[in-house]
Formats: sequence, structure tokens, C-alpha cells
Amino acid sequence: DVAIDAASGVVRAFAGVVWDDLVAATVDAGLGGLECLSGIPGSVGATPVQNVGAYGAEVSQTLHRVQLFDRSTGETSWVSPASLELGYRYSNLKFTSRAVVTAVEFALSTDGLSAPLRFGELARRLGVTAQDGTSRRPAAEVRDMVLELRRGKGMVLDAADHDTWSAGSFFTNPVVDTATADEVQRLVASSRGEQDAAAMPRFPAGDAAGENTEKLSAAWLIERAGFDRGWHVPGHARAGLSGKHTLALTNRGQASSADVVELARAVRDGVRDTFGVTLVPEPVWIGVTLDPE
Ligand SMILES: Cc1cc2nc3c(=O)[nH]c(=O)nc-3n(C[C@H](O)[C@H](O)[C@H](O)COP(=O)(O)OP(=O)(O)OC[C@H]3O[C@@H](n4cnc5c(N)ncnc54)[C@H](O)[C@@H]3O)c2cc1C
Repeated sequence: DVAIDAASGVVRAFAGVVWDDLVAATVDAGLGGLECLSGIPGSVGATPVQNVGAYGAEVSQTLHRVQLFDRSTGETSWVSPASLELGYRYSNLKFTSRAVVTAVEFALSTDGLSAPLRFGELARRLGVTAQDGTSRRPAAEVRDMVLELRRGKGMVLDAADHDTWSAGSFFTNPVVDTATADEVQRLVASSRGEQDAAAMPRFPAGDAAGENTEKLSAAWLIERAGFDRGWHVPGHARAGLSGKHTLALTNRGQASSADVVELARAVRDGVRDTFGVTLVPEPVWIGVTLDPE
């Protein structure tokens, strides 16, 4: 199900392969490029669908080709990543059922080093002092550190720890225009002081998102809107924010989907009321909705 050409760095996997098994196999084979995406649950075939990303990397950076079964024509063909219009947590496959990903090919680096370390916390923990986002480290070292960071944030399933009973990051990081980012920063300054406002994460959202757009941190805004780790809707403790990470909505053991939706709504509305930014959920919604009729 997985073909690894260690000489060229080209790796092909069928869609049903467990994603993290593929990442581990490439790292073991001395190939670099997927290590920052270690520990993400799910299948290989799902990764191009929302351009899976974490710790400064996205599959778009190493995708070589994607094999699609077109549902309307019944044909199977390899397509280029460019044809999928990959962006932040987006491809033109997402929310459509036009095609099934049947296999994916990646082009990885053969020098055993990771992709450039673009995520500050990861780089710091690996002892990288330069903040220019170009340093690389052995891929295996980076994988181990990513798994350690993910465990620390409750992002690796542990049946005994309710902080890990989540759908991962529940909201995507909001992409807003520069004027909105300025306004959010001004609101933070007036409610929490200039120092906090100066530390507000805001990054260029990238060419695909359009000019003058910036990506903010959903977790940072959730915390500034008054939702601390472990917060739950008063009187409704079956679903709550993770005690390790405010972006994870967790089932404390007995939660129904209605409990999770209620929590999601409270957080989305709280951030909107405070900053005028509407957070967008990342999971696919089936049979429930954030906005009741
Ligand atoms: C604890 C946790 C942590 C997570 N961390 C991250 C993270 O760091 N970064 C990140 O990007 N995501 C993260 N996620 C989200 C999730 O892991 C990814 O979206 C993953 O790709 C889902 O894989 P899946 O096989 O379970 O797909 P599903 O959840 O079953 O499907 C997701 C969507 O893709 C479609 N799809 C799936 N497979 C195919 C296919 N072969 N062809 C066509 N369409 C398909 C489905 O129809 C659906 O719309 C996390 C989730 C959890 C629970």
C-alpha cells in the first residue's frame, strides 16, 4: 500500500493508509518533509481534501500528485496539486463529493533533514535560535518533538484523559483583512493593555487568501474573549474546553453532540461579541448545525 523510493524521495500511498503510519515510514526511510505532520489522526486520502497542516507545514508543500476517482465520469486520473487550489485548510475537493482520492504521491527530501522549521515553539524546543524559518533538523528529531508537543496539548488520543476526547482544533484560524486585524488589536489594547495587544499573533495569510489578508490565532482570541482552559457553559459540564488547549472542544465522558454544539456556539458567539470575528468550525457537521433555524 506504500511505495517509498528512498533514492528519489518519491513516496506513493493508497488513500486508506493510516496517515501517521506513512509519516513514520518516511521518517524511518530517511526522508524529510512530512515530520511536522506527525500524530494527525486519519487516512492519507483525506490529507489533500483540507490540505492538512500543523506546526508550520501543510501537505501542499510536499504533494507531488493526487489520484482521483471522478464520481461523475467514473474515470481515475492523476492530477497536479495546483488543480486542487490548495489553501489554508482548503482544497476544491472539500465539501464536494465530486471525487474520491484513491492514492497520493509526495516528493520528499532525501537528505534526512526536516522541512524548514517555520513554527516558533517547535523551533525553540529543538534549540533553533534563528527566527528566520529556514533552519532544518533531522526529520526523526522533529517528529519526536512534534509528538511530544501534541501530547502536551492533548492532541494524541488517550482513553484515560478526557482532554484528548476531541475533534482536534475545533475552529480554523480566522483569515481577516488587515483593517479587521488592526481593529481586533485595538480592542485587545483597550481591554487588556498595550503589552498584550503587541503580542497578538497575526501573520500574512498567503497569496491564495488574497492581498491584505492576515491569519489570526483562534485559540488566542478565544482566551482573550474570556474562555479559559477547561471552561464549559455554566451548568453544562458534559462538554468543555480542554484543560490543555482552548481550541479543543472535549467530551468529558457523557457528552452528546447537542452538548458539543452548545459549547461551540457559546465560544463562537463570545469571540464574535468581543472582537467582531466569526470563528469557523473545522469538523464536518452531520445532522446538527451551529445556527438553528
Ligand atoms: C485529535 C485530533 C487532532 C487533529 N489535528 C489536526 C491537525 O493538526 N491538522 C489538521 O489539518 N487536521 C487535524 N485534525 C483533523 C483530521 O485529523 C484531519 O482532517 C484528517 O485528514 C481526517 O482524516 P479522516 O481519514 O479521518 O477523514 P474524515 O474525517 O473521515 O473526512 C474528512 C473529510 O474528507 C473527506 N474525505 C476523507 N477521505 C477522502 C478521500 N479518500 N477522498 C475524498 N474525500 C475524502 C470526507 O468526506 C470528509 O469531508 C485533527 C483531528 C483530531 C481528532
